[in-house]
Amino acid sequence: MEYAQIKASLAPCGLSCEKCFAYVDGDIRRHSLNLKEKLGNFGPYAKRYETLLRNPVFGKYPDFVEMLDYFASENCGGCRNEQCKLFRDCGVRPCHQEKGIDFCYQCEEFPCNKTHFDENLYKAWVRINEIIKAKGIEEYYEMTLRRPRYL
Ligand code: SF4
Ligand code: SF4
Repeated sequence: MEYAQIKASLAPCGLSCEKCFAYVDGDIRRHSLNLKEKLGNFGPYAKRYETLLRNPVFGKYPDFVEMLDYFASENCGGCRNEQCKLFRDCGVRPCHQEKGIDFCYQCEEFPCNKTHFDENLYKAWVRINEIIKAKGIEEYYEMTLRRPRYL
């Protein structure tokens, strides 16, 4: 995989925009749109099936639709193209632009205190960038392709 393509898929923090649920061309959004289309007008059926099939799970269908609609409606172009639509306070994007580097693992200040991440995200960010340093960006990118983004 070309470095430029990897750079387009991964945010400067190292997380995969390509696999984010909010990414406009991502699998999660695409499958959500597809599932919405396949389900068609399932709402009235779910209501009937709750009684007819005696299965209370169909009563949860409206909540499922709400989540599915949300996944289908997200449309972020990725961190390389626009401000993160989920985490608007992210400190990495403006910082890497100011520094003129592609990824945090390339930065002499890593691990810094400029990210504004919470504890979990901070730990994930450190872990990811240490993996990249150890294995190289190409191998790390291949790893992201084989795994779900949300582990
Ligand atoms: S910039 Fe943020 S919201 Fe957009 S795809 Fe990347 S992680 Fe997801
Ligand atoms: S200072 Fe921190 S946030 Fe900014 S590029 Fe370096 S490691 Fe990333």
